[in-house]
Amino acid sequence: MAIYEPIESPDQTRRYALRSPVTLDPIGELECASTEEVQATIARARAAQPAWAAKSFEERAEHMHRMADLVIAEQERIVETVLRETGKPRAEALSMEVYASVDALVFYAKRAAKFLGTERRRLHGVLGLLKKARIVYKPRGVVAVITPWNGPFVLSLNPTVQALMAGNAVVIKPSEVTPYSGALVAELFREAGLPDGLVQTVLGDGRTGSDLIAAGPDKVSFTGSVATGRKIAVACGERLIPYTLELGGKDAMIVCRDADLDAAAKGAVIGSCMNTGQYCCGTERIYVVEEVYDAFVAKVVEEVRKLRQSDDVDQADVGATFWDRQLTIIEDHVADAVASGARVEAGGGRNPDLKGLYFQPTVLTGVTQDMKVMRDETFGPIVSIMKVKDEDEAILLANDSPYGLNGNVWTRDAARGTSLASRIETGAASVNDMALSYGVNEVPFGGVKDSGIGMVNGPEGIRGYCHAMPIIVHRFGSGPVSFYPYTAKTVSDMQQAMKLFWGSRLMRRLFG
Ligand code: NAD
Repeated sequence: MAIYEPIESPDQTRRYALRSPVTLDPIGELECASTEEVQATIARARAAQPAWAAKSFEERAEHMHRMADLVIAEQERIVETVLRETGKPRAEALSMEVYASVDALVFYAKRAAKFLGTERRRLHGVLGLLKKARIVYKPRGVVAVITPWNGPFVLSLNPTVQALMAGNAVVIKPSEVTPYSGALVAELFREAGLPDGLVQTVLGDGRTGSDLIAAGPDKVSFTGSVATGRKIAVACGERLIPYTLELGGKDAMIVCRDADLDAAAKGAVIGSCMNTGQYCCGTERIYVVEEVYDAFVAKVVEEVRKLRQSDDVDQADVGATFWDRQLTIIEDHVADAVASGARVEAGGGRNPDLKGLYFQPTVLTGVTQDMKVMRDETFGPIVSIMKVKDEDEAILLANDSPYGLNGNVWTRDAARGTSLASRIETGAASVNDMALSYGVNEVPFGGVKDSGIGMVNGPEGIRGYCHAMPIIVHRFGSGPVSFYPYTAKTVSDMQQAMKLFWGSRLMRRLFG
């Protein structure tokens, strides 16, 4: 039974029926915004933005603090909305969606002025004697934030906070699978007293998302699949709209011969099963050096057998798969692996005791690089483990993927771990922990290869919601350095200057 399917509409509006992935019972309907409504939303955002951009960082920060207060006060309402649409365990709704949201609000409220305040930049050489430079971080205007269903509240909130602190207005287009968790972000911002029109939501499907881009925002922040990311890039390219794409992954974990195997096994299990495996930086492929392979597999199987899967969100370690489309992909990947010789050490299929969309936490061994489960994004609670000769082979296999979002290396030698991690062709990595990078606000986050374009988060990410505008100021009164009329002397003076400034290494050191 589909948890999201089109229904008849008395008019031209596209409508969908939504069901709970936990009970499969109806939980509401989604009515897609029309093209005209999307355009009107952008127009309202455009009207609201200049007054917001004129506010100081302190004033904008005050609004973020009020929103943080409200998110804390309304945590139950957020958690209940997320649980209704996803069926993730309550602890995950609280940690991923609420805790991480408050952290982002407070982090950018405190630091946006530092990241985006007008920057002095020293100029080199002779120009530095005559001119000074300032970089002004100007908001782009209206930012479209298009988001997926796996972290439906936080993935809508986090880019919104950064765009707002940078002085933009925001229109959020949440996933059609989890529309109300995304809509709640805009609702709460309004309740927190943010001026009208600054954060709005348009609800709808992929067509609504493409209407949003056609309505001409000044920047698109997209999080979602590679296939949709390509469409966004084309749509933005045609209109020359800047964009960031945070896309799918197939993250590799490397277990070295000197790893702490207890920690690595726990890391493998949470890395693969957190959010029911529906985590962009989830661990999807595990390469283990042969000396420690058997011991590692035994520990992983022991850990996975301890996991509780339940439709009671207060009793579950591993919850539902949020969308039947994803469940079909998970089943297909596991069936393909088993048909090609993989062994099921735990789990292996849908949970027969539960009515909803539940796939058991599963351990697969004897997997090979050509199986779907090691090649395509599975996005399910599957721990896929492969034996390798040594760390070099692990790196080779980790890099044999079109994806490059995250990864992790496990070793008692942190320096060697860092060196190995840096050899993985990926956007980010961690040593002796599962993928943390998205949740570490200080660092930029973004994929390489098919996993994305551009960075979100950290100083680099928030600056992406601005145009960095250099303003060059003449130091001594006004007037350009004029060489008119050009004569033979102009040419020889220029040649002399080049000889003087760059003719020796000493002068290059002074003027370079
Ligand atoms: P999706 O690409 O199907 O949908 C994402 C959003 O794009 C939805 O809101 C959808 O309605 C909209 N959309 C669809 N077609 C569109 C179009 N033509 N124009 C504009 N918008 C359009 O992705 P999904 O299935 O919702 O999300 C799962 C994917 O997201 C996974 O691949 C996961 O790895 C990835 N993801 C990446 C990150 C990251 O930070 N890199 C984070 C979370 C999820």
